[in-house]
Parts: sequence; structure tokens; C-alpha cells
Amino acid sequence: TPLIIPRADHPISRSLVSPNALRVLYRLKENGHLAFLVGGCVRDLLLGREPKDFDVATDATPNQVKRIFRNCRLVGRRFRLAHIHFQDEIIEVATFRALATGEEEPEPEPAAGGEPGEGERPRPPRHLVSEEGVVLRDNVFGTPEEDALRRDFTVNALSYTVADFSIIDYVGGMEDLRRGVIRTIGDPLVRFTEDPVRMLRAVRFAALLGFAVEDETWHAVLELAPAITRATAPRLYEEVLKLFLSGEGERVYQLMRQTGLFGHLFPRFSAWLDRESDGFPHAQLGKALEWVDSQMGSGEPVSPPLLLALMFGEFLEERADELAASGVPPQESMSAAVAEFLGEQAPLVTVPHRIGLAVREMLALQYRLRKIPGKRPQAVLARNCFAEAIAYLRCRSLLTGEGTKVLDWWERYARESVMPPVEGGSGEGDS
Ligand code: ATP
Ligand code: MG
Repeated sequence: TPLIIPRADHPISRSLVSPNALRVLYRLKENGHLAFLVGGCVRDLLLGREPKDFDVATDATPNQVKRIFRNCRLVGRRFRLAHIHFQDEIIEVATFRALATGEEEPEPEPAAGGEPGEGERPRPPRHLVSEEGVVLRDNVFGTPEEDALRRDFTVNALSYTVADFSIIDYVGGMEDLRRGVIRTIGDPLVRFTEDPVRMLRAVRFAALLGFAVEDETWHAVLELAPAITRATAPRLYEEVLKLFLSGEGERVYQLMRQTGLFGHLFPRFSAWLDRESDGFPHAQLGKALEWVDSQMGSGEPVSPPLLLALMFGEFLEERADELAASGVPPQESMSAAVAEFLGEQAPLVTVPHRIGLAVREMLALQYRLRKIPGKRPQAVLARNCFAEAIAYLRCRSLLTGEGTKVLDWWERYARESVMPPVEGGSGEGDS
């Protein structure tokens, strides 16, 4: 039986919840359904953090949800989800799910447009009667309890109901939240084997929330870190972005080094970091990530290409010099180094082609930036990646103390230039 925390004993007030999410919860309830806020938003509200988004779980099937909301779209192939569209917010409504057996592959979002209407997955009825004796429909995907148990960590499994504004806790999540602990639900060896990406999620939440990883969970990460490579490479790319653009990338990095996860995802780069005996490049990476964190903290988002350039730039510059020394034309050596490295990484962590191109452009431009005034500075200024190439240079010069003259020159030149302002930053619309 779950722990029920009544309204008087927890700090979540309705004024903290997105009005749209509340609308969805009330509407489902009026239509006779169970509906809870679940997952990250409950955790964040309890910690006094602003949730990124508000997710709802319900016993209504996707088709039932669609019938209740006009502004509803069904998305997802393997597991159908309902998206309720509001002016500037989408509330995701998922039907309770039973324990997931395999990897939790994110569903590719379909392009805007029509969606086929059928949503129910044929599935034999599981629990027709809950522990309390409540008869559930036989098309249930899972019970609220099963839905909590299939989640990754105890602090991510709390739910909030507008029936009486209480919090429902099946897994001891409240206690772990209070103590600041990341703990898997169930045996961590089993849960990390089911889905190795959960190991990265453990690190991300520990870093982001300033939590400790519970002992058994931590040891399971140490033991299973090599298995991280079993996750698909595009998913690992997405997760790497979340890790290092979380605002606590430096802490993430330390934990990833300690657990070995970093070395398994970036073997060659990691070997290069280890090679240095005085710890010099290693510390540089930590500092670059601190800079990224401070940018994120001051509302100055760092784009994926800039992040990657900052993480691997020093390594790539060294490799480009090697290639140049072995006869590759100097203007091409950086592009070659980036292409070689991203090619090597692709089976583990696949950087999308257009992002890789942006990294290449940004790093290759550094050679021209260093020559001031150079042959055609207007052409450099007009490059799509100019602003980001300058941001890269700014960070590097902060870390090394080199390049400040060059930076000053370009910043003055850009200010005084009669050229129209450069549009579009790096040309990559990611955030
Ligand atoms: P964030 O603030 O980064 O969005 P979140 O906790 O909301 O954090 P999501 O990735 O949005 O994380 O996932 C929402 C919820 O789904 C999680 O809180 C967790 O309960 C569950 N979940 C997500 N990924 C997994 C997974 N790989 N295995 C088990 N449960 C998961
Ligand atoms: Mg979320």
C-alpha cells in the first residue's frame, strides 16, 4: 500500500502547477478517470525547483483521452501518448504502464500533421481487480502502482492528485527526496541492465539536484558502466547533450569520470585526457564545462555544436596539428580531425551530420580568426558560425589567457563593421 501524504504535509500548492496541467487533471477527473501529475515535475515542485514540463498519467486510454480533449494529438509508435496542445504549452498525458521490460527508447516525434486514430495496443488484461478491490477496466495498460514501479528512481516516481491534493508514494521517494538520495526502484543491477541509459540519468540527477547516489545504486553503476555502450548511439548523443547542458555539466563530468562512464563513451578522447601526467588537459575540460554551466546559469544557452567544440577542441587541435605535420594541407587539417573523430565516435555516440558540420566550421574558422586583420575579414564576419566561433574563442582565452588580443580585435571589428548584422548564429536551430 502506498504512503499518502495529505495536502497539509507537503508544500505543493495548485498555484505552483501549470494552469493547463490542472485543467487536464480536472477534465479527466470529471470524466471519471484517475489522473495524476507524475515524474520529474512532482520531484521538482517538492524541491522548490521550476519543473521543465508537467506530465500527467491516467487510466484513460489514448483514444479515451482524445475523445475528451479537442486539442489532443496522439503521438508515439510503440507506446501511444496523448499531447494536449495549449497556446504555449503541451501537456503530455500517458496511460498508466506496467513494468517495462526492455529499453526505454524515446519515441521519435512525428512531424506535424494527421495521425492515425487507433491507439490501443492489444494486450491481455492483467489485473482486473486492484488490491483495494476496485475493478479496473480490462483494457488497462497498467495500474497506478505498476506505473510507479516501472520508473527509474524513487524520487521520480511520486504522483500528485487533484482528487484531494495529496502525494502518493509507492517506493519511498519522499524519504529519498528528503535525504537527497538517487536510488533505483528495485535491484539496480536489474534496472541498469534493462536500460543502461538509466546509469547516465542517475549521474545527471545526482549532479543537477546535488544528490548522493545511494550505495548499492552507485556500485551497480561502477559494475555495469561498460554496458553503457549497449544503448543506441543516437540516444546516447541526446543523453550526452542533456548531461552537459544540464547546468551542472562539470559535476556531471566528475561523476562520469569516477564511474568510468565517460571513458566508455569517449574511449580515445578519454585516453588522451589520461595521457597527460600533470593533469593539465583534464582540468581544462572541467573548466570549459564550468564556463558552459555559468553561461546556462545566466540564461545564455550554449548550442550543441559549441558544447562539442569546447569539450573536444583542444584534443582536435592537437590532432589537426599531427595531421598537418603528416602532410594534410593546414587549411583542411581541422576538418579532417573533426571528421575522423566524429566518425570514430559514431558507433557509440552519433553526432548528427549537421551538428558535426557546424563543429567543423567553428573550429576551422579559428585559424582565420587568429590572423588579424587577415585577408578578407568581412568574409569571416559574414560566416554563419562567426558568433559561435567567437564564443568558442572567448571561452578558450578565458581558460588559457591566450588569444585576448585577437578576441578584442574581432569584437571591435564586428562592432564597427558596416556589414549588416550576422543572422542566425551558428545556423543550427537547436537549443
Ligand atoms: P527532466 O527534468 O530532465 O525532464 P524528468 O524526471 O522529467 O527530468 P524525463 O526524461 O522527462 O525525466 O522522464 C519523465 C519520467 O519518466 C521520469 O521522471 C521517470 O519517472 C520516467 N522515466 C524516464 N526515463 C526513464 C527510463 N529510462 N527508465 C525508467 N523510467 C524513466
Ligand atoms: Mg521531464
